[in-house]
Amino acid sequence: MSELPVCPVMSAGKDIPQLCEQENCAWYLKNYKTCSVYVLAHNAALDIKKKQGGQ
Ligand code: SF4
Repeated sequence: MSELPVCPVMSAGKDIPQLCEQENCAWYLKNYKTCSVYVLAHNAALDIKKKQGGQ
């Protein structure tokens, strides 16, 4: 299916992007088939948008 996403956590400070380890990673949400780091980042982005849009 689709490519594995690059992991921002594993890639930090590395020259080569590291791919998501999925079920080997503690942050991977098996039930949602997604990464909790992405969810957090997404929510944070929405939150910032909300605050900026509220003016
Ligand atoms: S689940 Fe998230 S933190 Fe874990 S390897 Fe994948 S992208 Fe990185």
